[in-house]
Amino acid sequence: MKLGLIGASNIAEVRMIPAFRENGHEVIAVQSGGQSRADEFAAKNDIPNATTSIDELLALPGLDAVYISSTNEKHFDQAMAAIKAGKHVLCEKPLAMNIADAVRMVKAAEDAGLVFATNHHLRNGANHRAIRDLVQKGEIGQVLSLRVFHAVHLPEQLQGWRIDNAGAGGGVILDIVVHDADTVRFYLDEDPVDVVAQATSGGLGQGVEDSVMSVWSMPSGAQVMAHESFTHAHAGTGIEIHGTEGSIIAREVMQGPGGEIMLRRGKEVTPVAFDPEEVYPRSARLFGAAVEGKGQPAATGRDGIASLAVALAVAEAARTGQRTAVDYGEK
Ligand code: NDP
Repeated sequence: MKLGLIGASNIAEVRMIPAFRENGHEVIAVQSGGQSRADEFAAKNDIPNATTSIDELLALPGLDAVYISSTNEKHFDQAMAAIKAGKHVLCEKPLAMNIADAVRMVKAAEDAGLVFATNHHLRNGANHRAIRDLVQKGEIGQVLSLRVFHAVHLPEQLQGWRIDNAGAGGGVILDIVVHDADTVRFYLDEDPVDVVAQATSGGLGQGVEDSVMSVWSMPSGAQVMAHESFTHAHAGTGIEIHGTEGSIIAREVMQGPGGEIMLRRGKEVTPVAFDPEEVYPRSARLFGAAVEGKGQPAATGRDGIASLAVALAVAEAARTGQRTAVDYGEK
């Protein structure tokens, strides 16, 4: 597959270019808002074409697909342009700034017969797949509740638009709640119905929230409690899923492929084995296979709509102080 990068971003450079190349895909171009930045990025990453024009990138001979990793407010227009040009799309989360746009882009790709994938990396992890397997095989019985601990300290090099630019989709809700929503949906195979939430700005966020806690109701009756933050240097991350027959306790699983998973039944605690493979190469591999007509990407466009819907409901609930129904747009 021949790919074009839309956005000369950190995630593209550090994670996705190696992931595409590891799977035999060719990165043939990069588009950025500035020509000198595009040139510099292309030279550093050994990419043959650099441009500020999306149309020029989309017109390159042999281009099959694009990977969009610009700031969040640009995803919609860029995805629509790529789809109009007949290119498959792997788009970063959050797909868009509102549900109507997210639905439009995913639907446009579906109508055009193109693959549209969302780069929710966590569900590619063997750790999260092992947790899902335990839940789906009924190892903990009926799920009663789930707690996500995803309060981290935002690394200094990422303290740009994420902490001060609401217009670019900054703030912890659009950054991390979307991932947690995707992961919870992946485990439980159901979508939150409504949420309550409180958000705060505890020192890092300037005009955007940097911490949020929320509770989500699931159709099955299970309760989900989620905590996301940019300001917690020492908290560690984790997941707990509590069922009628047992509990899954997972530590350090939200920021990488490793961590520890335990299955607990009463006083009996059993470690759960998994292979800590890297997550981004699997996302790139399944997207490439889907483009070749083999299977589905790890997270589809519909998954991207749903995770955004939950995040937007959390933002609205935090803003209004009201219990807020999750609006998934047109399903
Ligand atoms: P970056 O801040 O690295 O890049 C975003 C945009 O900022 C780039 O597209 C580029 O604009 C501009 N930019 C970056 N560096 C510079 C610079 N030195 N000078 C001028 N402009 C610059 O963003 P991230 O890589 O952190 O995130 C990009 C997207 O990926 C977001 O949507 C984010 O939510 C998502 N993401 C997803 C992750 C995942 O695990 N799925 C992890 C991290 C991010 P231009 O478009 O003009 O080149």
